[in-house]
Amino acid sequence: MIIDAHVHLFPTVEVGKMVLESIENDTGVGYYAYGTPEEYLKDMKEANVNKGVIVSFAPDNQIKNMNFWTVAITRSGKNHPAKYPQFIPFISVTPTMKGRSPVEELEHKFRWGMKGLKIHPVAQGFAPDDERMRPVYQWMVEHNLTITSHSGVNVDQESRFGEPERWIPVLEEFKDLKLILAHLGNGFWDQSIEIADKFPQVMFDTAIAISHIESPTTLDYEDARDLIRTIGPERILFGSDYPWINPKKDIERIKDLDISEKDKNFILGGNALRLFNLK
Ligand SMILES: [Zn+2]
Repeated sequence: MIIDAHVHLFPTVEVGKMVLESIENDTGVGYYAYGTPEEYLKDMKEANVNKGVIVSFAPDNQIKNMNFWTVAITRSGKNHPAKYPQFIPFISVTPTMKGRSPVEELEHKFRWGMKGLKIHPVAQGFAPDDERMRPVYQWMVEHNLTITSHSGVNVDQESRFGEPERWIPVLEEFKDLKLILAHLGNGFWDQSIEIADKFPQVMFDTAIAISHIESPTTLDYEDARDLIRTIGPERILFGSDYPWINPKKDIERIKDLDISEKDKNFILGGNALRLFNLK
């Protein structure tokens, strides 16, 4: 069983193209695909990925459309099966979103089958320990659902909001908060190790940090192995960051690491199975 815990999708090629090209123009970071569900399904098949966690997020003016679409394509109705049952839908909220409050949006999409929350403090412009997010964390604890948060450097953008240690006050207050720090802290490895040490419930994903690409924050084989050993293979989830990344090649990279088969299976799917209570 392989589960990709970090997937961004776009409704159409046109939308994907627009977003991905504008990011490429601004930052020089290229992409692998346009990120439609159909394209990703093909990549899942090629890479033997069984499930993908959809962690799309958007700016405030697009966030509700994005959330609506994410749950709509993964939801089954009375007389029809879900269009994409292999996707696990996470939605996104911010303290500055208009209309429904973040907690109202969570309630609303929870009824529609959302399974978790994705936030990107750097791109969405708020600190993880922003006071206004406390009701959100409280709600997530009460519903025993997982948050995936971007962590570390965001493309070329360094921001205090991305530093893993900004989660410390939150984790101290919400002891049962299920949190995945994406990208293993992308560059802030010491802070990730500190968090892993202090808060045993925090998980991490491999996106960009353990990858076949060579970004400034991608670990080499030896450093990746050492970080996995330090944090613990049972706390790290494979995530590709599709459509920027080809999942197949990242899986190959993980399979090439100098760690045991058992640990590879934990990272590639076993940990996600446990975390998301999947069969
Ligand atoms: Zn991502």
